[in-house]
Amino acid sequence: MNPVTRLIRMAADYKWWMLLAALLGFLTVGSSIGLLMTSAYIISKAALHPSISELQVGIVGVRFFGISRGLFRYLERLVTHDTTFKLLTRFRVWFFEALEPLAPARLQKYKSADLLNRIVSDVQTLEHFFVRVLAPPMVAVGISLLMWILLRVYDPVFGITILLFHALAGLAVPALSYLWAQGTGEAILKLRADLNVLILDQIQGMAELTVFNGQDSHRKQINEVNRKLDRLEQKMTRISALHEALIGLLMNAAVLTMLVFAIPLVQQNTLDGVYLAVIVLGVMASFEALLPLPEALQFLEKNSRAAGRLFEMVDATPEVREPDVPEALPDSADFAIKELTFRYEPNATPTLQDISLSIPAGSRIAIVGPSGAGKSTLIQLLLRFREYHTGSIQLGSVELKKMDSEQVRKQMAVVSQSTFLFDSTVRENLLLAKPQAEEQDLTQALQAADLWNFVSGLEQGLEAEVGAHGQKWSGGQRQRLAIARAVLKEAPVLLLDEATSGLDAFTEQAVLETILTRLSGITIIHITHRLVMMDRFEQIVVLCKGRIIQQGTHKSLLQKEGFYKEMWQLQRQQDMLAN
Ligand code: ATP
Repeated sequence: MNPVTRLIRMAADYKWWMLLAALLGFLTVGSSIGLLMTSAYIISKAALHPSISELQVGIVGVRFFGISRGLFRYLERLVTHDTTFKLLTRFRVWFFEALEPLAPARLQKYKSADLLNRIVSDVQTLEHFFVRVLAPPMVAVGISLLMWILLRVYDPVFGITILLFHALAGLAVPALSYLWAQGTGEAILKLRADLNVLILDQIQGMAELTVFNGQDSHRKQINEVNRKLDRLEQKMTRISALHEALIGLLMNAAVLTMLVFAIPLVQQNTLDGVYLAVIVLGVMASFEALLPLPEALQFLEKNSRAAGRLFEMVDATPEVREPDVPEALPDSADFAIKELTFRYEPNATPTLQDISLSIPAGSRIAIVGPSGAGKSTLIQLLLRFREYHTGSIQLGSVELKKMDSEQVRKQMAVVSQSTFLFDSTVRENLLLAKPQAEEQDLTQALQAADLWNFVSGLEQGLEAEVGAHGQKWSGGQRQRLAIARAVLKEAPVLLLDEATSGLDAFTEQAVLETILTRLSGITIIHITHRLVMMDRFEQIVVLCKGRIIQQGTHKSLLQKEGFYKEMWQLQRQQDMLAN
């Protein structure tokens, strides 16, 4: 379906508000016309020195239209803005609701600046959809009809003439400026998006650009896009100037034509000379309704493009389909993975192949293996971020895909390789995991992550700001805050995805020790390529190229020749060298 038709359907709930706003717009321009026509009448009539009573109707008319014009303009602005904000809220909520199920799998292909652009700029562009696209044509049609009705009272030719000039100004000029501007609105949106992506890249990659002397070439790219954007915006300004000039020209041509028809009628006494100025000023005032029309077409193109970009995103089917009738969460947190095979793309080589694994509730399991073995992929499947099609994953003997994903995720706390911290305080970042947590819970969680000494030593303690992405903290401190957050969640399953690999050896050991001692009773799935405290895990699974190649306890695995023993020996050598 056409994006504009879809937008209109989405806006249909507010149709009465939109009609009211358009009606008020019509009454405002109508009052302007009334004001000028009655003023012209008074001035012309007064020149003939009539008695004051003959001017009474005109005087009342001027007062009425003078006041009503301001009042209607005010009400029109009020209702229009109110309707616009209602629509904008509707569009925003709809977009976020549609976007949420797509994260993270379906959003990976978008750059973050592009996503931001769609969420902010494209949705913002739709702000103009009603005010500048839908309302102006409604007001213009109403005013044309009003003028036709008013002027044909004097002579049918006047009615036809005004319709003709209104059609030229309201249809031909917009069509002309649309043809000239075709594609420009779309190109501007695209260039703006490109510019945002480049600027964000420059800000985020400032350190790398500085180190590798890439600032100049990056700046050149930005300047190039900026120049193109400038040229297109200038073109748009020229088009706007031209259509304003053309409408002005048509307005004057309409006035002249009216005079050409009206003057002979006055000479023949068919038309009272007083009405000459009335007609002329009425015609001039009526063109106010046509001025926004060429711009309306340009905004239509922009809105259609912006809506198209939003629909393109939200129309993507979520990778994970929620069941129509989800099954209840089981009491047990036992995981059973059977013959699980997973591919990122339908015909790609499997990232995980024939994985069968049993993780009883409360057990501790370490999944180890070289980089790219598929460890994080397994975590993503457990978290329902990606869909599996072959094999089965059961939680307490209920298939994972038969349950509501959000409920499944509530059973798990995760600490991943790249922790995201919000630009807020330590407290806020922790409360994300458990909004109702007490002071004591926060302290205990920080102690478990070996971070309490650091936080309590800060001047502002829990109220200290961590900065954007936790920039004010070191990588290890960020990671420990993430661990504290996961501990605070008190979920039955804790997933550690290379959670301690960013810590120094001492802290790594201390943090793991605390987690393993304090969090007794909960399942811990520890994904790592560093073999630290492996003897504390009941089960170690060695994953290589997507397959389980070894499985057992630390002791049993060291007794056999194989990948695990090699990894262990290599790591010991490295540790000895490092010491
Ligand atoms: P590391 O220890 O380096 O984090 P890992 O064992 O966690 O590695 P995964 O991140 O699960 O490995 O990646 C396994 C394989 O899947 C890799 O070959 C990787 O290139 C591929 N892969 C990961 N994410 C995607 C994706 N979104 N699309 C396609 N392939 C992917």
